[in-house]
Amino acid sequence: MGALALAAYAVNGRSSSLLAPSVYRGPRGVPRYALTFDDGPSESTPRLLDLLESHNVRATFFLLGANVRRLPGIARAIVARGHEVGNHGFLHPYYCLQTPRAVYADIVAAQQVLEDALGFSPWLYRPPFGLRWPGMRAAQQDCGLLGVQWTVMPKDWKWSPQQIAQHLTERIRGGDIVCLHDGRELAVNPDVRATITAVRAFLLHSATRWLRAQTVSELVGILPDVLEGDASASIRAAY
Ligand SMILES: [Zn+2]
Repeated sequence: MGALALAAYAVNGRSSSLLAPSVYRGPRGVPRYALTFDDGPSESTPRLLDLLESHNVRATFFLLGANVRRLPGIARAIVARGHEVGNHGFLHPYYCLQTPRAVYADIVAAQQVLEDALGFSPWLYRPPFGLRWPGMRAAQQDCGLLGVQWTVMPKDWKWSPQQIAQHLTERIRGGDIVCLHDGRELAVNPDVRATITAVRAFLLHSATRWLRAQTVSELVGILPDVLEGDASASIRAAY
């Protein structure tokens, strides 16, 4: 690859670990997938938690530090109801406009807020917009964070519930990591009704299907051995 192509791949490539180690799906051919929700917690997250519980589904939520600081009780409710949480940065910036030092500081600040609110260190990280930049690798290493990309992402911030549900129903297969949103970046009381309506329709449909939802850690095989101890420490040691 030429230097420019390599640079684009490092920033955008789903399987690229050049700027920071990450996973983007679980093994193919397994009857399992993972739902992930970014940009929360929001005032709408409890409705989503009720919906997931009614279908006995556990998901992974990538939380924004600023939103956790605003709604720490909802962040704790996500964990209390059996879901997994990860770091999604603090302010959801376009890192491309920032120095490596600022990228590093945004991730570490979010990790600190999550630790303070939850009482443990998350071990998963999803970069804003899925883009990787210099500064990210050092922050992930110091915080013990494994990057998580995705294989399926309907534009749930823009599409109708019908379009989102159809995309989910048609695209998801074994091993997929699905990216949805229970917040809208830093918006207060964001309108995420389209996402929730679509997830309800999809889960009603998928109840008859062979796929089972898991957390990202379960899907990619971090459980159970690593989680017996300190997952962040194990991931940090793997860098
Ligand atoms: Zn986001």
